Amino acid sequence: MSGRRLLALVPVLLWLAWPRAGAAAPVVVNDVTRLNPVAVERVVVPKTVDEVRDLVRHHSGAISIGGARHSMGGQIATEGSLHLDMRGLHRIVAFSPEKRRITVEAGITWRKIQEAIDPHGLSVSIMQSYANFTVGGSLSVNVHGRYVGQGPLIAAVQSIEVVLADGQLVQASRSVNPELFFGSIGGYGGLGVIVEATLDLAENGKVAREVRKLPVAEYREHFLREVRDSPRAVFHNGDLYPPAYDTVMAVTWSETDRPVTVPDRLMPLGGHHWKDRVMQFGISELPFGKELRADVLDPLRLRDSPVVWRNYEASYDAAEIEPASRARSTYVLAEYFVPVARFDDFVPRMTSIFRRHRVNVLNVSIRHARQDPGSLLAWAREESFAFVVYYKQGVTQAARQEVGDWTRELIDAALAAGGSYYLPYQLHATDEQFHRAYPRAGEFFALKRRLDPDYRFRNKLWDRYFPPSVAQAAAPGERSPAARSEAQTFLTLPEWYIVYSADEYAAFLERQRPTDFPFFRSVGQFWHVHASVVRATWGRYPFNWGYHAMIGVIGASYSVEYVLRGVYENSVGLLTDWLAEGTPETEEDRFMAQVAAEYARFIHATPWHEFPFGEKLVPLWELQDGAGTSALRAWERRLAFTVELTVKSAWGWAMRKATHAAYDPEDLVIQARARALPKAGLPRDPRVRVLGQPDGDGLLLSLPRYEPFTETVRSLARQGVQFLDIAGNRTIVMTLIAPRRWRGVEEGASLVSEWDILTRPEEKRVAIEVPVERLHEMIPRLERARVKIDHVYDY
Ligand SMILES: Cc1cc2nc3c(=O)[nH]c(=O)nc-3n(C[C@H](O)[C@H](O)[C@H](O)COP(=O)(O)OP(=O)(O)OC[C@H]3O[C@@H](n4cnc5c(N)ncnc54)[C@H](O)[C@@H]3O)c2cc1C
Repeated sequence: MSGRRLLALVPVLLWLAWPRAGAAAPVVVNDVTRLNPVAVERVVVPKTVDEVRDLVRHHSGAISIGGARHSMGGQIATEGSLHLDMRGLHRIVAFSPEKRRITVEAGITWRKIQEAIDPHGLSVSIMQSYANFTVGGSLSVNVHGRYVGQGPLIAAVQSIEVVLADGQLVQASRSVNPELFFGSIGGYGGLGVIVEATLDLAENGKVAREVRKLPVAEYREHFLREVRDSPRAVFHNGDLYPPAYDTVMAVTWSETDRPVTVPDRLMPLGGHHWKDRVMQFGISELPFGKELRADVLDPLRLRDSPVVWRNYEASYDAAEIEPASRARSTYVLAEYFVPVARFDDFVPRMTSIFRRHRVNVLNVSIRHARQDPGSLLAWAREESFAFVVYYKQGVTQAARQEVGDWTRELIDAALAAGGSYYLPYQLHATDEQFHRAYPRAGEFFALKRRLDPDYRFRNKLWDRYFPPSVAQAAAPGERSPAARSEAQTFLTLPEWYIVYSADEYAAFLERQRPTDFPFFRSVGQFWHVHASVVRATWGRYPFNWGYHAMIGVIGASYSVEYVLRGVYENSVGLLTDWLAEGTPETEEDRFMAQVAAEYARFIHATPWHEFPFGEKLVPLWELQDGAGTSALRAWERRLAFTVELTVKSAWGWAMRKATHAAYDPEDLVIQARARALPKAGLPRDPRVRVLGQPDGDGLLLSLPRYEPFTETVRSLARQGVQFLDIAGNRTIVMTLIAPRRWRGVEEGASLVSEWDILTRPEEKRVAIEVPVERLHEMIPRLERARVKIDHVYDY
């Protein structure tokens, strides 16, 4: 190529290489754990507030917001969104050392602020233990640190500026737009983009470290007596050591006049953190690594009393705990809050959960927080202790599920103590747990619906607890329940047919021998019900392939089982029955009837494959011959039942493996919106929890799912409670047991399917779909007409 041509290419090459304003390449956004990759449409790094406003105004789809990406559960992104990487907005807008106040753009990190204010003898008032986080990310989580006498970051905020979904720039403080102030701080980017914040600062004094090693039982007293109200104490945390969890290293940094022993004003950046990495690895992986740290390394590390600047102690670099790789395992945080008075209740429960699940805990750091002054998603609803758990986990699906199990148990333990859990970490909490921990979430969602009516500000946290379908389902200004798909109320019908069939079989064996049971007609009825469900949902809801495949597998298993049993009972069974005619019923027949009854009861509340079929083999083979019974019939029954139990036990084991691998545990509760009772006020039913009474006569309720759901809905309807929606849905299916000649499907309801109860010649089951807001009229009316409400199908 000639020199002139090369010269002509220079502008093109320069254009390609030039960092274009605002654009960045990566399409997958992930957080520090590497567990939550999310493919976004594009990532933009705005450099000015006006650029943020333009982007929000002109982008029509979902928008997600990220800071330093140290939240750990996908809180920074959702699929297909425009991701605003706020780190380009990192200027100090105004700084008044005299007033001890600073105004910054939201993408700035604490570290950058520290570098600017340290020469003026000032320090950040409240922040986390590490300085890498952005101000916007910290505000949106409403973080806390180790500061004594402080609490959530909101206490140190004068005002914020927020870009709303329509592109407006709005200021918010305790007095101006207070709803936006108390909603956005701790609002995980759900209401708008925080672009600026004005923060109070503190003096950068010298602090000296004091350490006390205490039995955990003495820690609370120590903290309340020596630390909580000490005017000199600045930082405090207690390290609770695994695996014994019986000793706390209480570390307090207090103001001092002594000269500094560490001259650096801020923690030096960069450098190699190999010692920290080796230590982390040793604690998490080596035998006795945890004991070595608790009994030898930490006492040595903390033996002297250094004096440092407050800014030095507040400027740790999270890189020091970053492992060399997160490919196979990763380090994650979780955090639970309990009221100060309940410290001693929570610790043993937490310890027992860690032990039972063999959680690889590296550290539990105990912190203290004053009550939150009013943010909608407050984690410290009263003065609390925080338990910050740092643990190591595998990255496989199984490892994540195991973490989910113990996390939910810990959340339950914190809730039982009147506490809460922290939202920037993995999203394992159920809907019920979320709403119990954050009882004002309904107000937050109502505000979001008002400020962001098209649901543009999204991320995985809000997708999980306030999915777009719910946001759109509920009426403006009202709380909305966690949504479930309406199609599900229909789709569970075939599964329940199998449960009813087990009931019928058990009831049948009480009076008759299995030979006469209508196995083949039952199979026919199952597929009839299934076809009715497909007809009722086809074209009305998106086709749920996964669920239909599951019903197909269950239906095929049921059919194969019943056909084989029908053939067997009508051949070999019939023969031994005929040969045994005139003799008493065998012990084996009786035992089979008992097991059938037990099984029928069991599968009303638990998946069939959890039934202990294998355990029935021993008692079967221990049966003694009954007097005068047919030996041939007894042996034939014993062998036939052995084969049945063995096959079901193996099939059940395979199903258990498959379903545990495929699904997260289901929520045991469901939410509903209802109208409060005009006279009685709140519903009187111990199974129902009132999650909130947002405005006027609206109630947000939590109801049990599965078996107790029917009775709960029935009892609420009898009390006159009018449902507005259940799990965001307006239609629900119920089955009735009615005389075969009954033709009373009410106006407003429509027939889904009906079928005769094969073993009860007078009765049939009728499946109808009903508008939820009419349940309170229809249920009492049907009951008055002596029609039994057999089952109401949740979602
Ligand atoms: C090693 C480590 C130590 C930690 N220590 C503490 C601690 O001591 N105390 C504590 O309270 N927490 C702690 N955390 C949690 C941490 O404070 C939060 O995850 C915090 O959000 C991190 O800030 P970030 O800039 O990384 O935010 P990101 O993770 O980037 O974002 C967090 C949330 O804020 C939203 N967001 C970010 N910027 C904006 C904006 N400008 N406007 C609107 N929404 C926005 C995001 O959408 C997201 O929902 C720790 C986390 C780690 C990994």
